[in-house]
Amino acid sequence: QVELRNVSKSYDGKSQVLKGIDVTINPGEFFVLVGPSGCGKSTMLRMIAGLEEISGGDLYIGDVYSNHSPPSKRNLSMVFQNYALYPHLTVEQNILFGLHTKKITKAEQKKRCNETAEMLGLSELLKRKPRQLSGGQRQRVALARSIVTHAPICLMDEPLSNLDAKLRSKMRSEIRQIQKRLGITMIYVTHDQTEAMTMADRMMILHHGQVQQIGGPIDIYNFPSNTFVASFIGAPP
Ligand code: ATP
Ligand code: MG
Repeated sequence: QVELRNVSKSYDGKSQVLKGIDVTINPGEFFVLVGPSGCGKSTMLRMIAGLEEISGGDLYIGDVYSNHSPPSKRNLSMVFQNYALYPHLTVEQNILFGLHTKKITKAEQKKRCNETAEMLGLSELLKRKPRQLSGGQRQRVALARSIVTHAPICLMDEPLSNLDAKLRSKMRSEIRQIQKRLGITMIYVTHDQTEAMTMADRMMILHHGQVQQIGGPIDIYNFPSNTFVASFIGAPP
């Protein structure tokens, strides 16, 4: 599991962008982090990934105290909002880039790449460059690059925000299916409350760097803990 105990973050040593975050994310859970722009979602994800220092509190990943572990030792993969594909590499090379820090034989790389491409419907596109793909196909390459690592924990920061509504809803269910099938622990960031409500096992609502509520979508909808949560979720007052 992933556990944050009283975690805080300040970029300038003065103002805190995250305050006293306490949460335990369970193995195999689809956990969604939601809240308005600037509330600290990406900051929290980047701290879990090890891309950003933790200013206070403790982070545990699978029972290991991880405040200072290097990103490559955390056993997790991350998908960013802009996909961050390498334009000069083929789809296959982009997918395999997820494995570049791991000691894995060429044969095993090939096997995993083909398996993952198959799962995401990319088998016919392996020799193409990113610019020859549609937005949804690029998104799938970004997902493939993360899944190919076989990391038990996956972090996604608004991975669908560049897609149109129809593709977004298709990708939501694809991500959900793959996550379930592989038993991945997912920490998924969005500012879209519909996306959160439809995808989450549990969700955490953040506002001004503080946790407003953690719970299942239906519970939060029925029993919002304050007026901010109620209006954010669109629940009746
Ligand atoms: P969005 O939905 O717009 O992506 P967010 O919830 O992901 O927002 P963060 O990116 O975590 O928000 O930012 C939280 C706060 O921290 C914001 O006020 C932002 O300006 C500030 N911040 C983020 N990164 C830095 C940085 N590198 N240096 C200083 N301040 C930062
Ligand atoms: Mg963000």
